[in-house]
Amino acid sequence: MTKRRTPDRYTNSIEPPVYQSASYYYDDLDHVEVALHKRNLPAGRYGRYSNPTWLDVEDRLSRLSGSERSLIFSSGMAAIFTTFVALLKAGDEIAVPAESYRRTRDVFSLILPKYGVKVHEFSIRHTELFVDAMARLASGLRLVHLEMPSSPHMMLVDVAAVRHVVGPDVVITMDSSFAPPPNFYALRHGADLAMFSATKYLGGHGDIVAGVVSGRADLVEQIQWYRDATGPVADGNTAALLRRSLYTHDLRIARANLQGLRVAEYLSGHAKVKRVFYTGLRDHPHFALGERYLHGHGGVVTFELRGSERECAAFVDRLRIPYMASNFGAPQTLVEQSTILTYFMYDDAALESIGVDRSTVRLALGYTDDVDDVIEDLRQALDADP
Ligand SMILES: *Cc1c(COP(=O)(O)O)cnc(C)c1O
Repeated sequence: MTKRRTPDRYTNSIEPPVYQSASYYYDDLDHVEVALHKRNLPAGRYGRYSNPTWLDVEDRLSRLSGSERSLIFSSGMAAIFTTFVALLKAGDEIAVPAESYRRTRDVFSLILPKYGVKVHEFSIRHTELFVDAMARLASGLRLVHLEMPSSPHMMLVDVAAVRHVVGPDVVITMDSSFAPPPNFYALRHGADLAMFSATKYLGGHGDIVAGVVSGRADLVEQIQWYRDATGPVADGNTAALLRRSLYTHDLRIARANLQGLRVAEYLSGHAKVKRVFYTGLRDHPHFALGERYLHGHGGVVTFELRGSERECAAFVDRLRIPYMASNFGAPQTLVEQSTILTYFMYDDAALESIGVDRSTVRLALGYTDDVDDVIEDLRQALDADP
C-alpha cells in the first residue's frame, strides 16, 4: 500500500528551503516511537515547537553570540517576557535598570508584580551606585536584568562588576539590542542570557518583527518549554528573512559604526547642539566602560539641542532624509524626538526618573544613506533660522 504523500523533491539546494508547515507527519508507529516518544531522530512534530528554518537560524545565532543555544521568538518583547515567565516565580526578587526599554519597564512595573515577583529598580546612570545596589541585594536576588546600551542615552553597565558582586547563582539577563555582536558580546562578561530584538540590527531590513534569546543551555531549555507551551513563535518566513539578514550582519554593523561616529563627531562640534550621547565620544558619561566592553558604537546617535521641545520639533520637521519613526538598524535613516514619540505619555517627573530632556533627538542612521548627505541635512536643519 503506497500512501499519498509528496516527498521533499530536492535535497541539494545551497540555500535551505523555507519551512512553512503547521505540522509534521510520521510514517508509521515505529517512526512515532523513535521520533516522538524517544526523540532519537530529528523530526518535526508540530509548528509551535520548532521547524528546520528556525533550527538553522538558531544555530547561526548561537555562533554569532558564542552561546550554547538560541531560540527565536515572534518579537523582542516575546523573547524577553517568555524568559522572565520561565525563570521567575512568586516570591522572587529581581533588580532592573530604570533606563530599560519602555515596554520591558512595563513588564517590570505592571505585569510581574501581579504574579508576586518583587522588582527593585535602579538607575544605571551612576555605575558605581548601581553596582553598590546590586551588592546590597545580592543574596536575595533571583535575577538581574541589564540592558546596554540603553536608549536614548546609550548608558552602559559594568556587567563584570555586577556578576562579581551578585555571585555565580544569580541569573543575569542582558538585552543588548543596541549592540549585538560583534559590537558587544554579553555572554563573555558574565551574562547568562543575551536577548535581542531581531527587529533591529539582527533583522536589519526593517521588514521583520522577531526576538532572540541566546545563552546557557540549561536556562534556554526551561525557556523553550514555556515557548512550546505558550506559543510566542515566529513563522518560517520570518526565520528565513532573519537567516538571510545574518549573512550581511557584520557588514551592516561595520557601516553603522562608521556612520554613527562621523555623525556624532559632526554634531558635537555644532553650536546649537547642547550634548551628544555616543559611547564612541570621550565625553560620553560611560566612555570608559565602552572602551572595556564595546568593539564598536553603532549607528544610533542621541543629542540634545539648545532650545525648547517645540523648537526641537521644528528642527526634526526640517530634516529631509530621515523618516520620523521609532526603530533602528533599518536601511533608512530614522529620527525621533524622545518626548514626542517614545515617551509622549511621560510627565515631567517620569522623564526626570530616566533623565530624558525635552530637547532629546535620537537619530538612527540607515545604511543605505550616504553619511555625508545626512550630515548636510543635519546642517541645513540646524542652521535654518526660522
Ligand atoms: C525594540 C526593542 C525591544 C523590543 O523588541 P520588539 O522586537 O519590538 O518586540 C526590546 N529592547 C530593546 C532595547 C529594543 O530596542
